[in-house]
Amino acid sequence: MPDHVLTIFAHPDDAETMAGGSLLHLASAGARLTLCIVTDGDKGTDDETDSAAAVIARRRQEQARSAARLGAEVVYLGFEDGLVQPTLELRKALVRVIRQLRPDVILTHDPTVWFRHDVYINHPDHRAVGQAVLEAVYPAVKKPRTFPELLEREGLTPHVVREIWVGPTDHPNHWVDISRHLEDKIELICEHASQFPPEPTRAAFTRLAREAGAPAGLAAAESFRRLYQVRQTVRVLAGGGDAGVAPTGQ
Ligand SMILES: [Zn+2]
Repeated sequence: MPDHVLTIFAHPDDAETMAGGSLLHLASAGARLTLCIVTDGDKGTDDETDSAAAVIARRRQEQARSAARLGAEVVYLGFEDGLVQPTLELRKALVRVIRQLRPDVILTHDPTVWFRHDVYINHPDHRAVGQAVLEAVYPAVKKPRTFPELLEREGLTPHVVREIWVGPTDHPNHWVDISRHLEDKIELICEHASQFPPEPTRAAFTRLAREAGAPAGLAAAESFRRLYQVRQTVRVLAGGGDAGVAPTGQ
């Protein structure tokens, strides 16, 4: 079981929709959770009279209520909703927060997903954040000479993130049984009341959990592509193992 799990998703509500059941499972097993949210979600309204400040304030309150249920800390990076690109500026901001928090496991978006369920075009911020997180985790977080000012001026030493879970994904290799947590996951999502009306939300996420679990014989699941990192990848590829390669468990 990992000690510290960091989620890095684009918007308020992404952690809950993408991985809420897994986060409840991890929290119940004693993991410390931190939710890093790259944008403020300021475009999350259909009301033309809503100001950005009002939307941000509303969504921060919703996120705080959900995080309180999870017992999670929340960190915002403050990028503009809807316009995220996998820039070096974002990569550096991610390297900084990952080196500060030093998680065992990171959950993020799968940057390769463009479509799902034939009705869903993946939000470009999701792809951009997923790409930027993977590019930060390897190699920048591990390498002292990448963004050297982070080490020299801020004292942020390199770190190896042992596991990265990306999802939702078309290529899962890891399933978390969320049968016991599905109701609580739906309640977490419904804390984001400005985005998710209760009834279609319940039906949709019940269906998604059932479909995600089917390949693994589970009634309700979330699935991920789970990647491992070690200090020297070449040792693993050589088949010799590495002290850091052991999975940390669910
Ligand atoms: Zn999102």
